[in-house]
Amino acid sequence: MTTQNTRKETVLERLHKKSISAKDIANQFWCEKQMELNYVSQATPTAAMNRGSAIHAQLQVQVYKPLSVEPVSWPDRMYKQAYENILSLNTLAQERMAREIKIYGSINGYTVAGQIDEIRMADGKAVIVETKTTTSSKFTPEYTRPHGVQIMLYRKMLQELVDGSYGYRNLDALYRMQSMRLSEGFAAGLREIGVKEELMTVGAVYTRMFAAMASLPQLSDALVLHYVNRKSGEDAGDITVDYDREKLGKDITYALGYWNGEREASPVAESDRWKCNICRFYGKQCTVWYQGA
Ligand code: SF4
Repeated sequence: MTTQNTRKETVLERLHKKSISAKDIANQFWCEKQMELNYVSQATPTAAMNRGSAIHAQLQVQVYKPLSVEPVSWPDRMYKQAYENILSLNTLAQERMAREIKIYGSINGYTVAGQIDEIRMADGKAVIVETKTTTSSKFTPEYTRPHGVQIMLYRKMLQELVDGSYGYRNLDALYRMQSMRLSEGFAAGLREIGVKEELMTVGAVYTRMFAAMASLPQLSDALVLHYVNRKSGEDAGDITVDYDREKLGKDITYALGYWNGEREASPVAESDRWKCNICRFYGKQCTVWYQGA
């Protein structure tokens, strides 16, 4: 008699993911079904997404110093990410502002990754800033809700990096960084630009990166959502969100219900059907509120 393996596929496996991004969790508070369809439908980025990425890239180059050596392998790319994070964190001390800081954390056993758009110093504290591109000038609670979840998650994750409750050991358990080897060409390029021998391994650069994060100044509870007009690239206004641990805790519990496979991805409620009019899956992969042509 043969025994069949009846283990149910996890949500992460179904979406071909190893970790959850903070943005995924935020997008669950816009439309969970849309968030899931972005993975399973293999849809390409929209023009609006591309324009948003271009504006982010413009902001990034203003203070960000990318590594000039091109990675060729996965360990090289891992190295580059941590090295650039260290460069970014250094600019916080020197220029009182850092951009594009990759962060990691763990929520109920899930690895969560994110990228903070900006950290700036104000009144001796580090303030997290999340930039969103928009075509709207009306920032209703429904519109800003996912952005608020995202920036509060960043605040929580960054705090855990500062106090060391998430650190090198956690990420190493996932990626086994000690056993990663850099490609010869990439390592030669690093030596050429003067990277010291003690920083020539993936393990070493991540150890240094987590140490830099642990020495960040005190984090502010005032979080800034910075809106930029998607067409003109001009500022469209800032909203300050107060970090609310209890509210975030409830939002995380709700969001995890989906990742734990306790429920299917929820479509928007009937009162939020207006979101479907600006959804690329409307009437195609999603017909929940579709009335037909
Ligand atoms: S059509 Fe509406 S319910 Fe369906 S995925 Fe898009 S926003 Fe969500």
